[in-house]
Amino acid sequence: MRHHEVVIVGAGFAGVGAAIELRRAGVTDLVVLDRGDDVGGTWRDNTYPGAACDVPSILYSFSFAQNPDWSRSFSPQPEIHAYLQRVTREFGVEPHLRLRTEVVDVRFDEATARWHITTERGRYSARFVISAVGGLSEPVTPPIPGLDTFPGQVFHTAAWDHDAPLDGKRVAVVGTGASAIQVVPSLARRVGALTLFQRTPAWIMPRHDRDWTRVERWLYRRFPALQRLGRTLVYWGRELYVVGFRRPSPVMRLPQAIATRHLHRQVRDPKLRRQLTPDYTIGCKRILISNDFYPALTRDHVELVDAGLAEVRGSHVVGADGTEREVDAIVFATGFETRDHPVAHRVHGRDGRTLADVWAGGTRAHLGTEVAGFPNLFHLVGPNTGLGHSSMVLQIESQVAYVVDAIGQLRGTEAAADVREEVMDASDRRVQLALEGTVWTGGGCASWYLDDTGRNGTLWPSFTFAFRRQLARYRLEDHELVVPARSPERVSA
Ligand code: NAP
Repeated sequence: MRHHEVVIVGAGFAGVGAAIELRRAGVTDLVVLDRGDDVGGTWRDNTYPGAACDVPSILYSFSFAQNPDWSRSFSPQPEIHAYLQRVTREFGVEPHLRLRTEVVDVRFDEATARWHITTERGRYSARFVISAVGGLSEPVTPPIPGLDTFPGQVFHTAAWDHDAPLDGKRVAVVGTGASAIQVVPSLARRVGALTLFQRTPAWIMPRHDRDWTRVERWLYRRFPALQRLGRTLVYWGRELYVVGFRRPSPVMRLPQAIATRHLHRQVRDPKLRRQLTPDYTIGCKRILISNDFYPALTRDHVELVDAGLAEVRGSHVVGADGTEREVDAIVFATGFETRDHPVAHRVHGRDGRTLADVWAGGTRAHLGTEVAGFPNLFHLVGPNTGLGHSSMVLQIESQVAYVVDAIGQLRGTEAAADVREEVMDASDRRVQLALEGTVWTGGGCASWYLDDTGRNGTLWPSFTFAFRRQLARYRLEDHELVVPARSPERVSA
């Protein structure tokens, strides 16, 4: 068993960001484990045609590694992936990477106050574990009856089959979320016929996307302060959304009117317009941006089925409204596992209980980062850290700063710090109270933000600067210390 001071699980934005900041703080005995064969997380996995970020590029980077070379206002996936590969190299994280290393079990050993991590390629022990596995990393394909009888290609947007011969073929796409609206226009250009199964229409705003000019990029390179200024302006513009999200009406009428106008401008057919008009308040589900989704739906070879995919019969896909079409391939743009994350079943805390056990009544954590009963284990992009309005990289940086502070305070001891149950509960209550009456809980929609009971265990209900402020200091006094009874050396011998 190899021992490291810190084991980070996941090499996406969160894991790489944590490794960089820990190194900067002098914590160098660390490894970053990832099941994939490269860094990048979601930006490594989601390679479907048209994949791009719907948060402006200027905000979608580490604050300490801004990128003057983005090609556009909203970067395509390959550029974001390349950016993460570059910062991994430039900030010295590469030697710490252990790729193709899937974690299968993480277990706290009370006697030594250490974590034991079992992977498919060996075992590790660590004083600190940082879980940076991502909230949207497990693709979900719904259990459609008869799917196993389908003779053609079937794949998920997050596991795109680039060898599938789709050109000129009949393709069904299932879902109309953020991934679907990006992939549909690209597919519509290639396939012979496209059938889109829509269960719930999305609110879609215009995408103010353009190339960054050479002058702009030169200016940002030459005068980084200019890029920081641009970032600050975009940052505050996005924070304004929170005002509307928190008190849905009448503030949300303006974006809703803009989205309605966008639909009316791009879709002339009244029936199609009606089918594409949501019946819930904008913001309840993630607000999408696209200029080419609606036009794609107006093309002759593209058909919208205003119903979910209910069944597959051989090579036929059947909608809940009875519509039946023969297709050569099915693309599932049906999102990710957000309620019962497989990793939660693999993490065993102080009393042997798994995270999944603790989260059975809903995911919760102190400041989205710590769960009682799991000492010295930190979650990045944990419960109630998600955003509907801005860049997750901001949240990740706030959490990473908190974790670096925690590890700094605990390094001098042999103890592990377990956040007190009552502290976690109070933290969770505050968040749940703040979520009451927001557009996410009261906007009249079902979304992946909510669990089966209607509880929102995913979103941060406020400004990103408020999150940063709450995580500004790690309070040791909020924790119970677990002091090792045995010397870890004897255990690993
Ligand atoms: P998603 O938002 O969960 O959307 C899944 C879609 O599948 C929904 O439209 C859902 O309908 C539909 N669906 C599920 N089962 C269906 C069925 N049987 N028939 C028809 N439709 C069905 O997933 P996603 O689009 O992958 O996006 C997930 C999240 O990833 C986003 O909210 C965002 O945070 C992130 N993302 C970000 C970007 C970016 O640009 N930054 C791009 C892609 C994704 P219902 O709405 O009725 O449930």
